[in-house]
Amino acid sequence: MKIAVAKELDPAEPRVAATPDTVKKLKALGADVAVEPGAGIKSGIPDADFTAVGATVSADALKDADVVFKVKRPEASELAKYKRGALVLAIMDPYGNDAALKSMADAGVVAFAMELMPRITRAQVMDVLSSQANLAGYRAVIDAAESFGRAMPMMMTAAGTVPAAKVFIMGVGVAGLQAIATARRLGAIVTATDVRPATKEQVESLGAKFLAVEDEEFKNAQTAGGYAKEMSKEYQAKQAALTAEHIKKQDIVITTALIPGRPAPRLVTAEMVKSMKPGSVLVDLAVERGGNVEGAKPGEVVEIDGVKIVGYTNVAGRIAASASGLYARNLLSFFETMVNKEKALAVNWEDELVKATALTRDGAVVHPNFQPKTA
Ligand code: NAD
Repeated sequence: MKIAVAKELDPAEPRVAATPDTVKKLKALGADVAVEPGAGIKSGIPDADFTAVGATVSADALKDADVVFKVKRPEASELAKYKRGALVLAIMDPYGNDAALKSMADAGVVAFAMELMPRITRAQVMDVLSSQANLAGYRAVIDAAESFGRAMPMMMTAAGTVPAAKVFIMGVGVAGLQAIATARRLGAIVTATDVRPATKEQVESLGAKFLAVEDEEFKNAQTAGGYAKEMSKEYQAKQAALTAEHIKKQDIVITTALIPGRPAPRLVTAEMVKSMKPGSVLVDLAVERGGNVEGAKPGEVVEIDGVKIVGYTNVAGRIAASASGLYARNLLSFFETMVNKEKALAVNWEDELVKATALTRDGAVVHPNFQPKTA
């Protein structure tokens, strides 16, 4: 059983899919592990750290690999190096990427999309969305603090008092909850909003104040899967009026609102941005999915009348060593379910985790959500 740890092609992707800690555990499962040179360097892991735990470091790591551990979906030039039948575990970004799925099917690889892992108790340890969103929420506050020309905590000094920053978190999923906790640790006065009623208690338990239009629609705004529903135009208008008043008085706004399979909801209009004081900062964590903030640009910090809109992409990757550490553990945990007692590769195709994540197999796209459209 040969496992390859790929070096990411995308220069903007600093994460790596295995760490010395997970390589040790992969070896204990009976695998030979080969790492592409420099794969871990941007996460602070030199090649020597991989060899120290028994991996080989080789430019030919992918050749003959039965399993490839990756962060991002392999591109065509990478697929050309993979063995037919190889399993590939990565964040596959499958929505709207039919051609890429087809090229993986054509290459004969078995592609698993880690982000489709069901959010059930058994799979919590494999949940890459949570592990990465948690770090992104933390990093969003650090990025906001870096762009903010004032202090976060209240400071009473001989020379006068520095007021505490007012931070507003929009969207209280995994990223938003961590953003609340981080902003509170830094001493900010934190408020937060979400369309899911269950979040109210979570916000309050972190010592922040909850702000939302709490009408009948709000009380039913959660799907059985625990995700947000798209809200009616009427609700959005009422909520926008409430938040518009609030945003005017904020120093920092961090938006994290997403709806699965839909573009991110627009929560902050250009007018609201304009209403903020010069020196205020917005961080849009949804910028890659269309953005919650009007005017946010992926990969850029936009300044409008002294208000900064931070649109960094791959925010978890901005703390690459931590992000790789957690991601590598997620992958290891999923892979452990694919190895039998004889230390051989034995994928259970009936396992719900496998069914939910397998995109391609035997030259075809097999996932029900991504079937090629018939004319
Ligand atoms: P997400 O990334 O899909 O969305 C982020 C947040 O944005 C969500 O809280 C959502 O309600 C909110 N949102 C959407 N539209 C909004 C709007 N118009 N205004 C304000 N907020 C809006 O969410 P997530 O972080 O993936 O978490 C989704 C749910 O899944 C949460 O309940 C979370 O606790 C749950 N979860 C469960 C597990 C598990 O293993 N059981 C693991 C992770 C997450």
